[in-house]
Amino acid sequence: MTYDYLIVGSGLFGATFARLATDSGKRCLVIDKRSHVGGNVYCEDVEGIHVHQYGPHIFHTSDKKVWAFVNRFVEFNRFTLMTVANYKGRLFNLPFNMNTFYGMWGVRTPEEAHAMIEAQRGEIKDITNLEEQAISLVGRDIYEALIKGYTEKQWGRSCKDLPSFIIRRLPVRYTFDNNYFNDTYQGIPIGGYNVLIDKLLEGVEVKTDIDFFDGLESQWRSLADTLVFTGKIDDFYHHRFGELQYRSLRFEHEVLHTPNYQGIAIMNFTDRETPYTRIVEHKHFEMMGSEVNNLPMTVISREYPQAYLPGYEAYYPVNDDSNSRLYAQYQALAEQEEHVIFGGRLAEYKYYDMDDTIARAMACWDDNKKIATKP
Ligand code: FAD
Ligand code: UDP
Repeated sequence: MTYDYLIVGSGLFGATFARLATDSGKRCLVIDKRSHVGGNVYCEDVEGIHVHQYGPHIFHTSDKKVWAFVNRFVEFNRFTLMTVANYKGRLFNLPFNMNTFYGMWGVRTPEEAHAMIEAQRGEIKDITNLEEQAISLVGRDIYEALIKGYTEKQWGRSCKDLPSFIIRRLPVRYTFDNNYFNDTYQGIPIGGYNVLIDKLLEGVEVKTDIDFFDGLESQWRSLADTLVFTGKIDDFYHHRFGELQYRSLRFEHEVLHTPNYQGIAIMNFTDRETPYTRIVEHKHFEMMGSEVNNLPMTVISREYPQAYLPGYEAYYPVNDDSNSRLYAQYQALAEQEEHVIFGGRLAEYKYYDMDDTIARAMACWDDNKKIATKP
């Protein structure tokens, strides 16, 4: 065998696994069907601005091991995500907090906000879907203005047909705190995400523009003892039980000749009619305060939700009941494999954030190391 590991996919899962294996003296080959490494955290340099090509990425974690790991390779800046929602021209702070409640109802104390939400929550007892979860957390007004339109655009289905956990990703706070995350650590890698990925892949053999399924699957597999697969699990089994559903996105990137277009990294457009969900202004991730004006131009990206069709990227697993059942069938097959490790958002069909993905890669490496060194 030429390699110990053939790693399909150079995103955070593949790159983390490759780093850990290489540091232990293993030989890895990483292949990726895209023309660059990094998967969805890849950034393009446009006019000195790191443009998040596949959607805005903010690193946040409470996992000390993951934070220590990434800090071995790159330092992080002090960026803290605070998002503004634009509902038909009215601006509200996100995530849901006292600033949002004040903006919506003029309430000034946590007690007043509680009373308002309690009154709007009505009779909901059992939470069976996203709509019930949202109304019970923040009341009907906020659901209608800031959640319903955005979510139905994003997922292409009714809030009644979506799992409640999706909305629980966002904090609800009875304090004046606009931080989008509750995690202990947060920031953007100084120099951008490509620095992190390049360090993770330093000294690792990498080939881009290679699709594992382009007819040479068995030849690729014969190169290594173990395959680490980070693509779609239903692709791996050639859709034997049917296709898993994903949600896709389309990005429209634009260079504007103004130093500061919207004054914030992410503005969400939460009404149903605006066809995009958010506008990202990339320079705000890395240029703070008056630094923003040092560059006379800016780059913005409009993010349009999109059905997942052939040729599009699969960005989000659709973790509803029927897809979860289908995934369980694939997972049962995956568990029988002795020389294949499935990891990451697509192979595990899970809504992983970056820190979850890195933590999974570290855990998979530890497990595999134990098996490999068993007497
Ligand atoms: P990916 O990054 O998707 O990498 C998989 C790689 O495998 C890709 O490069 C792909 O080209 C390659 N591949 C697939 N199939 C094949 C094949 N057949 N042959 C060869 N190569 C193949 N997380 C956060 O923590 N914070 C955020 O702010 C955040 N924002 C996000 C915004 C958006 C719009 C999206 C979609 C995700 C966001 N995430 C965020 C999640 C984050 O992107 C993921 O957790 C992480 O990138 C997953 O890494 P991965 O390696 O599993 O997958
Ligand atoms: N969401 C919403 N309104 C917003 C932002 C988010 O209703 O302005 C909902 C939407 O359903 C989304 C979910 O909250 O899918 C999780 O939001 P998050 O920002 O975590 O989404 P991601 O970054 O994964 O796209």
